Amino acid sequence: MIFNKEFELMPEKKMKELQLERIKRTVHHAYNNCPFYKKKYDAAGFHPDQLKTLGDLRRIPFQMKQEMRDNYPFGLFAVPLSKVVRVHSSSGTTGNATVVGYTKNDIDVFAEVVARSLAAAGADENDIVQVGFGYGLFTGGLGLHYGSERLGAMTVPISAGNTDRQLMLIKDYGTTVLVCTPSFALNIADYIEKKRPDYDIRATKLRIGVFGAEPWSESMRREIEARLGIKAYDIYGLSEVIGPGVSSECSEKSGLHVNEDHFYVEIIDPETGEVLPEGEKGEIVYTSLTKEAFPNIRYRSRDITRLYHDGCKCGRTLVKMDKVTGRSDDMLIIRGVNVFPSQIEDVLMAVEGTEPHYQIIVDRKNALDELEVMVEVNERLFSDEVKVLDAFKNRISDRFRSTIGISAKITLVEPMTIARSEGKAKRVIDRRKI
Ligand SMILES: [Zn+2]
Repeated sequence: MIFNKEFELMPEKKMKELQLERIKRTVHHAYNNCPFYKKKYDAAGFHPDQLKTLGDLRRIPFQMKQEMRDNYPFGLFAVPLSKVVRVHSSSGTTGNATVVGYTKNDIDVFAEVVARSLAAAGADENDIVQVGFGYGLFTGGLGLHYGSERLGAMTVPISAGNTDRQLMLIKDYGTTVLVCTPSFALNIADYIEKKRPDYDIRATKLRIGVFGAEPWSESMRREIEARLGIKAYDIYGLSEVIGPGVSSECSEKSGLHVNEDHFYVEIIDPETGEVLPEGEKGEIVYTSLTKEAFPNIRYRSRDITRLYHDGCKCGRTLVKMDKVTGRSDDMLIIRGVNVFPSQIEDVLMAVEGTEPHYQIIVDRKNALDELEVMVEVNERLFSDEVKVLDAFKNRISDRFRSTIGISAKITLVEPMTIARSEGKAKRVIDRRKI
């Protein structure tokens, strides 16, 4: 189902005109109402009146995450606090947290883009949506909650964690759509297998999963779909831009449509900052087009993807972005080779017998980077002879060398050895002191 035909089916040319008009309004609004922007743009020799075409956007300096931290908590708001009806915040594990604010209208837009995302995954008002994202300062829970209500679906605000209760409600309420992180979805599958063999997930009404808040690969999708008997869709977003709903997958499950009437996107070379042509891979940069409380102009997300139009079969004209599989700052440089955790995951999932739980440990010994990958293997394999395990280990390391181009020490561990999180999975431990 297409939730908002006017915008989701808008011809490209008309969309560009709308974006230009909205960019002008947003940049003027930020410049006139938030001293930070006036100071920054004056210093860069830029004035909002210089914006005549979408290309002129390149004259505006990028917005960096550090600037949000430096202006903690409300320094980047462009409306009086009396107009702000909600705030969300990042966990702020590195330095200050970043705080984002919403006016009544911003909340409305947020609900709209999430409703579009749920509809794109095949949900409508007849569905029962179980929101297993955390409720709180994190945008996930409340974001999906209001989007689901906007769609008209029955919304179950269970929040994150508590696997047993999630399963109980899926069965008792007849939940049809589950929203959570992809690692939690796998956690649920593990839990059923190990602790609730009596629970038949396929006998429930659950049919759709909408997963986000952490990068996940195609192989992880196949795994989730097979084990939970559902169709799994990606929802993407970041609190700095609005929260989940910036983009989402449609029935084609090949790329995510960006809600371009609210967010203007560019792809840049993360090293030089140069804007790249459509189709090329690089860092995605966002400009909010309708936000009032917290406009964000040319925000460097650090997420790596590419943009393209492919005449999507679903009918949407909105530009598509690839599933985000890495961040320019999560990217590991190991012996000079760029490695994304998602690539490592793909290698592992392609080898039969490995479980989707792994941890990457990078260390530096005698000035040489060492990569160790701890991999869980299924019980059947683990109880096998040493010879069999060794052969298996070699198969994985061969694949590493041929696919990623570096060698890795592979350590096989028993099922359930690697710590499970009910929120985001900690995949990488970088012990290098550089
Ligand atoms: Zn589509």
